[in-house]
Amino acid sequence: MLGLYLHVPFCSAICNYCNFNRGLFDASLKARYVEALLSEIGRAGGAGRAGADTIFFGGGTPSLLEPSEIALIIAACEDAFDVARDREVTLEANPESVTEDRLAAYRAAGVNRLSFGVQSFRDDELKRLSRLHSADRARAAYGEARRAGFNNVSLDLMMWLPGQRVGQWLESIDCALALAPEHLSLYMLEVYPNAPLKDEMARARWSQAPDDDAAAMYLTAMERLDAAGLAQYEISNVARPGRRSRHNLKYWTDGEWLGFGCGAHSTRDGARWKNVSATEEYIARIQAGESVALDMRRLPATERLGDALFTGLRLSDGVDLSAIGERYGVDVWQRYGADLARFIDAGCLLREGARLRLTRSGMLLANDVMSVFV
Ligand code: SF4
Repeated sequence: MLGLYLHVPFCSAICNYCNFNRGLFDASLKARYVEALLSEIGRAGGAGRAGADTIFFGGGTPSLLEPSEIALIIAACEDAFDVARDREVTLEANPESVTEDRLAAYRAAGVNRLSFGVQSFRDDELKRLSRLHSADRARAAYGEARRAGFNNVSLDLMMWLPGQRVGQWLESIDCALALAPEHLSLYMLEVYPNAPLKDEMARARWSQAPDDDAAAMYLTAMERLDAAGLAQYEISNVARPGRRSRHNLKYWTDGEWLGFGCGAHSTRDGARWKNVSATEEYIARIQAGESVALDMRRLPATERLGDALFTGLRLSDGVDLSAIGERYGVDVWQRYGADLARFIDAGCLLREGARLRLTRSGMLLANDVMSVFV
């Protein structure tokens, strides 16, 4: 089954650390973009409609689209694909952009999972990240989601923020636990070289905590979440039983997905491509009947194998070397074992029968381990 990703590149303000493909909200641009998105989805349909079981509105800030627009896009997906009845339909939402009525309307439109960009439950940290919402607004938005009938809610939190200490980070974890969401995503802030936050940090003399503290943030949070019934299933994600993100699992289990909208990526039938990134160019190409896909290329088998291992190792369950080896016709251990052995010796990796997985402390060094497959 395919996953369908819909990119919404609009935000009410641009956060000082953001490196995503997004721009400032403009109502008329948004209207033209939604038309283009509907056309692109329509083009992908046709005879022998492929099956899909997840739809994911990501961004940007998808909750800046009206519920009626979300309904139209879901309907376009249903026209173009055979969308399973038990589909997962996720909408990323920012706390300041929703009300209970708006959330209820999203639900009526077919959204059944919300992912809130909370980032922190401390107002000083939110301000430092130039986020538009407060901790109270995030809590209120969560309550509105519950009252609107959502029973599958995820919260995004960020750690290793400028000036943040371990205890302050754990405050956010405890606040999240008090709300009892079904899913949490925890990310370490990466300060990009050209991010405005980098200059602000220099001016204000904010620094990120030492690496050891960053490791303590990650490990302590994971332990606390585990104890509360939110089991880790991926490097950055925890969930209650049955509430793992079905859409994101496609990225980590060698699945297939189609991305629609500017800058969206797709992987299908051994090929990979990316849509043109600029919003205006994307719209213009669609209006002219041209392709929006760039860099379409067929992936060599070695690259597909490397990707399957690279992404699969992100999962707490790791990868089944026999199954992957069978799929790609190679003995995985013979090919990579010599390079992986040192990570096993260092306690970063575990080999249990046919399974290979990162230990939790190994997850902190995942990039080093995974460089073996690149
Ligand atoms: S809301 Fe998200 S996508 Fe938009 S600017 Fe902020 S971090 Fe970037």
